[in-house]
Amino acid sequence: MLVQLEISEIIRQQRLFFATGKTKDVSFRLEQLKVLRKTVLDNQAAILQALKADLNKPTFEAYATEIGVLKEIDYTIKHLKSWTKPKKVASTPEQFPSEAVIYPEPLGVVLIIAPWNYPFQLTLSPLVGAIAAGNCAILKPSELAPHTSRAIADIFQKNFDKSYIAVVEGGVETSQELLKEKFDHIFFTGGTAVGKIIMEAAAKHLTPVTLELGGKSPCIVDADINLEHTARRIAWGKFINSGQTCIAPDYLLVDKTIKKDLIENIKNCLKEFYGDRPENNPDYGRIINQKQFARLTAFLNNGEIIVGGKINPETLYIAPTLIDNVSLDAPIMQEEIFGPILPIVEYNNLSEAIGIVNSQPKPLALYLFSKNKDYQEKILRETSSGGVCINDTVMQVGIPDLPFGGVGFSGIGSYHGKASFDTFSHQKSVLKKSFLFDPKWRYAPYKGKLDLLKKIIG
Ligand code: NAD
Repeated sequence: MLVQLEISEIIRQQRLFFATGKTKDVSFRLEQLKVLRKTVLDNQAAILQALKADLNKPTFEAYATEIGVLKEIDYTIKHLKSWTKPKKVASTPEQFPSEAVIYPEPLGVVLIIAPWNYPFQLTLSPLVGAIAAGNCAILKPSELAPHTSRAIADIFQKNFDKSYIAVVEGGVETSQELLKEKFDHIFFTGGTAVGKIIMEAAAKHLTPVTLELGGKSPCIVDADINLEHTARRIAWGKFINSGQTCIAPDYLLVDKTIKKDLIENIKNCLKEFYGDRPENNPDYGRIINQKQFARLTAFLNNGEIIVGGKINPETLYIAPTLIDNVSLDAPIMQEEIFGPILPIVEYNNLSEAIGIVNSQPKPLALYLFSKNKDYQEKILRETSSGGVCINDTVMQVGIPDLPFGGVGFSGIGSYHGKASFDTFSHQKSVLKKSFLFDPKWRYAPYKGKLDLLKKIIG
């Protein structure tokens, strides 16, 4: 663990580097994004190995969801020049002649704190925005994915100067030491409880925060659907990474007329995905640690297990599990599940489902499966969530132009694509005047000028 002095020294060096103005140069940023791209490509094997050791992450999933940060880098490289250009906005006639322009400028030295579930991607993806916007950055990967944390520290040490991008490894105490320092932005991904701690610490320095948090993301299933596609998309979104996905469908709210058929179809999908013995299947992951395993297995008696339920504490295995007859008061319906257990709650009409969703804090994601356009509009109008995906799960995260973030308890701020660039930039408003005229309507003496002012104000 780094002591406070060492952390202060890294920040001091980064401030000195930032002050050289080098990071403001767009060609420097592009060059660094290319270095980042090459670093990921050259170190794929080590990253995949670390993810396997931490989460038994299947190689296919690791490519799609972690190495996949390459797509974000490419998208940013492609658009960076246009994002960094000052943008003219309309000025007002009484200011004639003048020009009003927004200049995006970097914030300075930023801190990025990452969680363990997508430990590589969730450290690098915000970094792409920080680099693009011209900042220096300190990365704090999650100590709960220690192999990935080590791999990140190793590859950054070899490819980036720590006065520009540094990795600080360690647990809660290290985070606490970091949080004592003044940063120009803190980007945190993790749970709501820790999010509150981060915001409190940031407030002491008036540091702006982005909080990418979690919550219970509902998945509402109407009767008017393609059953086979619905079942497959739900099973995939829930059970990739063994359910340890911030936007995984947390629980199902199902129209009671199709519940039986939906369950049957999800059951078939699980068999198709992972076979009869998921514990022997290389395409199925594991729970991160004993603490999470114990928390999750306690949910198994919160209803009637209709699929799965098998566990192995030695290998941290929990089978893909469906639980029926779950009461809304049960512990599994009170906190984010964040594991491969899917409770099913039935409803009689859509308003009842909306009532259940709205009785919980605003979620990070909301899923609706329905062909009915009126129902789709009703859900968009009557619920609030970080994002919505209609007729699929999780895939909304893959659209770079859709800002990704929560609302209320699921987070503050957003990122991905241009939103990442904006998150790590200050939008500096600039008014440029000329010396051509200097009409006296605003200067004292005011006598005789009020009527003109009234006309200007309208
Ligand atoms: P966490 O909040 O426990 O930890 C996240 C980070 O905070 C880690 O780096 C950890 O070292 C640090 N930390 C922990 N306790 C701290 C403290 N007291 N003071 C300062 N720092 C502290 O989250 P987690 O368990 O790693 O991740 C799971 C949570 O993250 C879930 O709620 C999930 O929904 C959420 N999540 C959200 C997103 C998103 O994009 N919105 C993505 C992934 C995970």
